[in-house]
Amino acid sequence: MNIKIITSEETKEKPDQSALGFGKHFTDYMFEMDYIEGQGWVNPTIKPHLPFLMDPSSLVLHYGQTVFEGLKAYKSEEGRTLLFRPEKNFERLNISSHRMCIPPIDVTMAMEALIELLKVEEKWIPIKNGTSLYIRPFIFANQQTLGVAPSASYKFMIILTPVGAYYAEGFSPVKIYVEQKYVRAVPGGVGNAKTAGNYAASIRAQYEAKKKGYSQVLWLDGCEHKYVEEVGTMNVFFKLNGEIITPVLNGSILSGITRDSVIQLLRGNGYSVTERKVEIAEIFKAAENGELEEVFGTGTAAVISPVGELATDDEKIIISEGKVGKLSQWLYDELTGVQNGLKPDTFGWVKTL
Ligand SMILES: *Cc1c(COP(=O)(O)O)cnc(C)c1O
Repeated sequence: MNIKIITSEETKEKPDQSALGFGKHFTDYMFEMDYIEGQGWVNPTIKPHLPFLMDPSSLVLHYGQTVFEGLKAYKSEEGRTLLFRPEKNFERLNISSHRMCIPPIDVTMAMEALIELLKVEEKWIPIKNGTSLYIRPFIFANQQTLGVAPSASYKFMIILTPVGAYYAEGFSPVKIYVEQKYVRAVPGGVGNAKTAGNYAASIRAQYEAKKKGYSQVLWLDGCEHKYVEEVGTMNVFFKLNGEIITPVLNGSILSGITRDSVIQLLRGNGYSVTERKVEIAEIFKAAENGELEEVFGTGTAAVISPVGELATDDEKIIISEGKVGKLSQWLYDELTGVQNGLKPDTFGWVKTL
């Protein structure tokens, strides 16, 4: 692939690595490519990260035909750029695209684009402990027309943002509200696609949970409000009576790459992991009986997010005495160790540039 590079004399000042936050600063360059009906994906370009013009009738603004991904680049102690299972993200982008009727991208081409962009922006990868360069690939419908139908044109872009340690005040458990009114996804819907509408639909619930003092919501299934699906934008695991369980992928749950990595890591270290339907009542009952040992979320942003409290409007359970559980801590240390090149990569997950 021949990527055109448009350079700029103007570069931004790099932000302070101890106060990066998440998604606040963007690097100097981005990748952009167009899909034109009859031509396919064309014009791969690396160019300055700047606002761009869109027609107000652009389809994505009205009907939300769009998909995205999220992954991270890390700097090793030797100064190499490391990516964690990046092909998985582009494969999943295509799965999301298929559901949203967006034409697929070539995974090899997307990897090439990402690697080229990272070469240009290498100096933007922060090195301070816990920091990384968050990568956001996305595709959106860009035809200028109104009417619900597959777009005739799309844009595929990759933007980059240096992000700080997720746990600025140290690795600590979060309080979660068990959502019983709103749902995130339904069977046959778009829950297993990383598409904007899922997140737009979740904002009201998250906003109301925050007002009640919780940091995220635990989503139950859309039909019976009985089975656990996800926690915020993370997959969820429970350690219950020595057994590790996680909701089975049922079509309305997003198939997390961190989820898959955690399952492989646990199984590879002699733990048994069961993927099955998990009733929320079972979890509350196990907590009452003293059998609920740990609860944690998994996702690229936080990696592992220990849950210290689960609450409905009438009931509340405290997990691991509100502290970080042993297993959560071990998984966090193992995964971040591999991602940063500090621990052996026994599964061949790390791509070194
Ligand atoms: C992205 C995402 C996850 C986590 O996926 P990872 O690949 O582990 O980052 C889980 N649930 C939802 C709804 C997500 O959007």
